Amino acid sequence: MNQKTAIITGGNRGIGFSITEKFIDAGYAVIVGARTDNAVEARFNGDVIRYVAIDVRDEQGHRHLIDKAMAWTGRVDVYINNAGFSEWRPIELIDESFFNDLIGTNLKGVFWGCKAAIDAMNNNGVIINISSIAGKRGSANNTLYCASKFGVNGLTQALAKEVGPKGIRVNAVCPVLIPTEGLINALKSPYGPSKDNPEFFMTKFAEDNAALKRLPTGLEVASVCLFLSSEAASAITGQCINVDCGVFPQ
Ligand code: NDP
Repeated sequence: MNQKTAIITGGNRGIGFSITEKFIDAGYAVIVGARTDNAVEARFNGDVIRYVAIDVRDEQGHRHLIDKAMAWTGRVDVYINNAGFSEWRPIELIDESFFNDLIGTNLKGVFWGCKAAIDAMNNNGVIINISSIAGKRGSANNTLYCASKFGVNGLTQALAKEVGPKGIRVNAVCPVLIPTEGLINALKSPYGPSKDNPEFFMTKFAEDNAALKRLPTGLEVASVCLFLSSEAASAITGQCINVDCGVFPQ
């Protein structure tokens, strides 16, 4: 088997699952890395997907994903660092354990993923980091999440310069609010912006802030990932691209 291969962390649900669907539809073999399988393999027909239990905070987990790809298809074309979480908390409630968990997942997890991917890709390949609009601007009770995503954008820009000479492209995608399980749970926090009513908050947010008067879908984020992985994007690297229906024009 020598099929184009994409590794997607957190590809078992939410935005990551939309990316998994999009890449499988486009003919990729997909390897999903996450802590729980969510029966993700059973949701597709044919020999198109493998699930590997990993924790992105552990460098070795990313090596397992690469090993799986090498044993299955013999190649890694695309590595998508999507796994992450958000949780609004005021600064006085941030302790060492929360700091390590959030930064460990959202920033360190992306860093180890990039390192493993670069090692496997040698002379070409595409890395995509799922960042956020929160990586472009600050918001209240969101210091650590914003710091993690600003960090993701920073490492994306730096690595693009470092590995560009090898033909490896590194980009980030920055979505705004997308109603996944993770976001809805996070919005229920008393410290978040939604005041106990995530659906109302998102509708109002879209009306007040989005040029298109709506929010993007996971599949729209996935489409940008597929484009960035394609030959059509061969001149694009080091970019942090907003997928936000015009919330934050740049
Ligand atoms: P979900 O909570 O719906 O999904 C999160 C995914 O990450 C799951 O697959 C989860 O799998 C995986 N994951 C979390 N922690 C770990 C870990 N330590 N090791 C391995 N896998 C892990 O979140 P979303 O789909 O909403 O978010 C996906 C990405 O998009 C995140 O990086 C998020 O910050 C970003 N984003 C989301 C936005 C939104 O509005 N939804 C907006 C902007 C950015 P499991 O639990 O099985 O390990």
